[in-house]
Amino acid sequence: MSENYIKIESKATLENISAIRVCITSFISTLNIHFDELMDIKTAISEAVTNAIEHAYDNSDGIVAIEASIKEDKKIIIKVSDYGKGIEDISLAMTPTYTSKPESEHAGMGFTIMESFMDEVIIDSKINEGTTITLTKLIRKVKS
Ligand code: ADP
Ligand code: MG
Repeated sequence: MSENYIKIESKATLENISAIRVCITSFISTLNIHFDELMDIKTAISEAVTNAIEHAYDNSDGIVAIEASIKEDKKIIIKVSDYGKGIEDISLAMTPTYTSKPESEHAGMGFTIMESFMDEVIIDSKINEGTTITLTKLIRKVKS
């Protein structure tokens, strides 16, 4: 199969993060992927989904959509989309330790973590329309 995918739509609530992670990692586990790389992807997804909940919707009602696709058995692409407030300044948002919510103990390291655990992080955002984060990883390690 050259491409396979799964798509989840969830209420944007921290309660659902664990279910989202289980679903996506179980889908990816069909690949011959090393545990460490699976954990990296899981962490990056959690950061992107948490941002949708806490920033896009400021913890009020909203929807987050997560699409995972596997290409040629070696490339994993995860898209996390929200329909919230959008990001005004993308390069500022990506700056390590920058957070728009310093008062609520945010470390401002979410995008830095996504970038260090994934091969590519692309942010598409429109003010008051929403944000899509595209996370890509090439699978290198194979389970022994
Ligand atoms: P933190 O979540 O700790 O603030 P991040 O690196 O995860 O740090 O995000 C940096 C900033 O980017 C956030 O403080 C927020 O202003 C903005 N941001 C991130 N994701 C979104 C999103 N989905 N919608 C709106 N703003 C976002
Ligand atoms: Mg964050």
